[in-house]
Amino acid sequence: MIESATRDFNTSLSKEKPLNNVGNIAFTPSLDTVQQVDNAEREFRRASQSKSERWTLRTPTKRDIVARLERVSAEDGLRLKQCCSAFRVLTCGTHTLRSYPTFRCKKLFCPDCAAERATRLGNQTEAKIREVMKTTKGRLCFLTLTMKNAATLGGGLVKLKKSFANFKRKKVFKKHIKGYFGAFEYTFNPKTNDFHIHLHLIVLRGKFWNQSDISDAWRDVTGDSFIVDIREIKDAHKGVKEVCKYPMKPADLMTMPDDKFLEVVKMKKGTRMFISGGCFYNVKLDDDADETDENVFSQFADLAEGDACPFCSQELFDVLVDRAQHIGLHELNAMPGVVKTNSS
Ligand SMILES: [Zn+2]
Ligand SMILES: [Zn+2]
Repeated sequence: MIESATRDFNTSLSKEKPLNNVGNIAFTPSLDTVQQVDNAEREFRRASQSKSERWTLRTPTKRDIVARLERVSAEDGLRLKQCCSAFRVLTCGTHTLRSYPTFRCKKLFCPDCAAERATRLGNQTEAKIREVMKTTKGRLCFLTLTMKNAATLGGGLVKLKKSFANFKRKKVFKKHIKGYFGAFEYTFNPKTNDFHIHLHLIVLRGKFWNQSDISDAWRDVTGDSFIVDIREIKDAHKGVKEVCKYPMKPADLMTMPDDKFLEVVKMKKGTRMFISGGCFYNVKLDDDADETDENVFSQFADLAEGDACPFCSQELFDVLVDRAQHIGLHELNAMPGVVKTNSS
């Protein structure tokens, strides 16, 4: 979301829309003028309000989830509220080199943490796939396995995991699939009050395997579920993005009754949402391992307070900014010479 907003910001600049008071700040964000940055952001919002609804979506969504969570669990609500509410920024006063939140809740349903996780896992996975594809022949395919709706998320996940464990042991699976990695995704149906849980996989297919045969094999292990989909991936980057996206749409959280909502909230932190095997075994999906946050500009990961800024040689220092100021900084980071590594 931040990326698309950045693009919009650039577009609005190139069209030379008059953004009052922005001027050069856009390309030389200065932190002693955090107030200016804030103003610039507000101006940008105003200027782009009509075309960029996405821009405003993210914060209210999190705010909504916090409000809902506070009603059912004060403690979890507070954690979610504190997550990404403040950021530490490494800067020379002119250039912003790195930023990270002072606290992350790392909950699957947190829009901030889910976005960070999706980006991090996507980068790791894509690198690994490209490496494997150099030496292993086959077609990269996108395989989706679905289950009949489940009353509880935990129960549904256990059943899907068990089914897949049996599925991958089947001869037909081994005959066609050289490697796989994937992630679980779940949606909630408020009409039937149950979860739809499915598994998105990227597989390296050797021999052609048609959909109806896969469907038969999947019904074999699940007993009652047979809806599957397989298609070739033309663009590995897009495919990886599809698998590593959020496990759950934040909007779904708002339609759940309290008991289901609490189940999602209380789901164990270490619940493994990623699996891998075959030639993709150990695709590095450290779902929960990260103690250090991925930096926005990871090429500057080694820099610390007191070092010289690679752009202007001024001494770098840490500064604390709040959420609104940080959003402004992200946008203003679209400066020449700085390449965002986690985008594209
Ligand atoms: Zn969070
Ligand atoms: Zn500098």
